[in-house]
Amino acid sequence: MSHLRFEALKRLHDRTKVHAEPTSPNISKFFGENVFGMEQMRATLAPAVFKKVSNAIKNHEKIDEATADAVASAAKSWAIAKGATHFTHWFQPMTGGTAEKHDSFFDALSGIEKFKGSELVQQEPDASSFPSGGIRSTFEARGYTAWDPTSPMFLYGKTLSIPTIFVSYTGETLDTKSPLLKALKAVDIAATRVCQLFDKDINHVVASLGPEQEYFAVDKALADARPDLVMGGRTVFGHAPARGQQLEDHYFGTIPGRVYDFMREFEIEAWKLGIPVRTRHNEVAPSQFEVAPLFEEVNVANDHNQLMMDVMSRVGEKHGLKILFHEKPFAGVNGSGKHNNWSLITDTGVNLYAPTSSAKDNLLFLTFFITTIKAVHEHADLLRASIATAANDFRLGANEAPPAIMSVFIGSQMTAVLDELEKKGNVKIEKGDNMYMKLGIDQIPEIILDATDRNRTSPFAFTGNKFEFRAVGSSDNCGTPMTALNLIVADQLTKFYETVSKEIEKGEEKRMAIVNVLRKYIKESKAIRFEGDGYSDEWVKEAAKRGLNNIKTMPLAIDAYVSKKSLELFEKYGVMSHKEVEARNEIKLESYIKKVQIEARVMGDLAMNHIIPTAIAYQNKLIANANGLKGLGIDNKAVVQTIKEISGHIEIIKNGVRDMVEERKRINKIADTHKRAIAYCDDIKEKYFETIRDSVDKLELLVDDEDWPLVKYRELLFLR
Ligand code: ADP
Ligand code: MG
Repeated sequence: MSHLRFEALKRLHDRTKVHAEPTSPNISKFFGENVFGMEQMRATLAPAVFKKVSNAIKNHEKIDEATADAVASAAKSWAIAKGATHFTHWFQPMTGGTAEKHDSFFDALSGIEKFKGSELVQQEPDASSFPSGGIRSTFEARGYTAWDPTSPMFLYGKTLSIPTIFVSYTGETLDTKSPLLKALKAVDIAATRVCQLFDKDINHVVASLGPEQEYFAVDKALADARPDLVMGGRTVFGHAPARGQQLEDHYFGTIPGRVYDFMREFEIEAWKLGIPVRTRHNEVAPSQFEVAPLFEEVNVANDHNQLMMDVMSRVGEKHGLKILFHEKPFAGVNGSGKHNNWSLITDTGVNLYAPTSSAKDNLLFLTFFITTIKAVHEHADLLRASIATAANDFRLGANEAPPAIMSVFIGSQMTAVLDELEKKGNVKIEKGDNMYMKLGIDQIPEIILDATDRNRTSPFAFTGNKFEFRAVGSSDNCGTPMTALNLIVADQLTKFYETVSKEIEKGEEKRMAIVNVLRKYIKESKAIRFEGDGYSDEWVKEAAKRGLNNIKTMPLAIDAYVSKKSLELFEKYGVMSHKEVEARNEIKLESYIKKVQIEARVMGDLAMNHIIPTAIAYQNKLIANANGLKGLGIDNKAVVQTIKEISGHIEIIKNGVRDMVEERKRINKIADTHKRAIAYCDDIKEKYFETIRDSVDKLELLVDDEDWPLVKYRELLFLR
């Protein structure tokens, strides 16, 4: 296989530059040109029909058949005029990523292009091959996709793509979008009610998301020459390069030429699709980068993130780059996350997490701020579960990623504000607008402007006007963590409203009632607040003292989904039934098992068929050399020592692979999925992966570079 490595290196050097420029430097001229959104609908639909559609979207109402027919017809004409021949329902099954099945507009029977409202509204893809966690038994192996009008249709290639949810014949959710939509509705209702305590003009609250996407870009030929990258998106072997990220020269450094060309082109494609990509920069690790869009409503932002990842992969190919979204493609080098910047914004345009200069509005801000902290404290385990994946396990708690312990960072100034509010519990608050001044709350606007108070080690951090959920993995669908976060905040806001209302009924002044509940929340949720170094060992100890969980692996972390508390929460807001939550966990566990299985197989195959033969061949060369030296009467101790070292590693690898195979046979017989997943985690991954890898990586240093079969880290990470 070493020839593959050298061929790949040659191809890398023979690459020619590909570069694309936008049709105009004024991005507004072509932004969203491939989107059939509000503007296009306004332009192509009869005013009465358009009004119906836009109202339905705004108020989450059903769209009737005649309206759907009109929208379908307009979308078809628009798409065909732009060269489309097909349409597809685009959905996000539990496999991760997106799925689609294309149908042509052309109907051979009638000889014309057709697209009916019913085809826009609902499709029945052959769903039997998508995971359902046992929800769909064979006799009802049907699934439906249903149009989500709140996310605009778009033209992708020559296909009109329609964002949809995916449900079973019996109505259970089989995707990431449907529970998300329900959680967003829950938070809208709960937050609006709380807002109305302050401002009766607020009728809706929209959750916003700005996901910062981290990724690695490596040469495609080099990546393709690594079976582990091809099969699982992660290198299972590879010695750290002499130069890693210790020089700290990559972050915000000059973007390398080929990667810049790639970014330029995928950004153009993203803009055409209405994805507001904005920021690009190098990340900490070599060959690691980040792209961030402007925030949007959560559902649309997540669709855009999913679509953008696809655009990036495709455009990457054109530039001879493989885009790696895996959370930890390289050992010893930083992993990748997808920071979920999140806030709640009212339909009157107020960001509820942005402190302002008016005392009255600041109480509104503090209400949302404190309630959110309280929600995270109440449901830390669910939040942890929502980011648990096989790949994220390699990243969380490693010394350059947020720990698996959930905590909230708010900065020293907000800490001071909360301390003040808490301490002055028995202070007599006078009525009138300046009562908050006595609490020091009027200090917020000035101090908040100082945004230098940052803590990169926190999994959930307040960053001035939004919370940033940093523990989310780079390859993950934000729908899952966003469902959990919006739901727990919805629940806490509901409880807040109920408690405050009761106090008011008892005769308490409204603002006093609010302040009192907030004070109670501050006290109760103190344990979740942490301002120190989340990567430190001290924090692990301190967190344990505070009673915060540190659940390191996915099969255990997702248990929090099926706790009584979580099941009740999902059910209370109609987000998911017990059956749906349980099915989802089953799917996740199955997928976890498969991923560890694949890695174990790839590892075994590479080790036995590539590494060991290479090591033996090299060892034979050394043996000949040792014998030659001996014949000449020259000291051959050093060579003999290397021969022995190689033998030692070969033995460790062989035994490890053999035992791992036996262990897998045993584990595969375990009927219970949960137990099987735990066994795959503890008895395969934890027990063998590191040991085998360690010896392979040592051999990499011993064996002649010319003979080594696998593309090396220094080549993957530093050659472009
Ligand atoms: P950072 O705060 O991480 O230094 P930015 O201010 O550029 O960087 O924001 C990062 C991401 O957060 C961007 O995607 C941005 O659109 C998003 N963002 C900013 N404000 C909000 C908000 N109120 N709600 C949700 N996301 C937001
Ligand atoms: Mg950030």
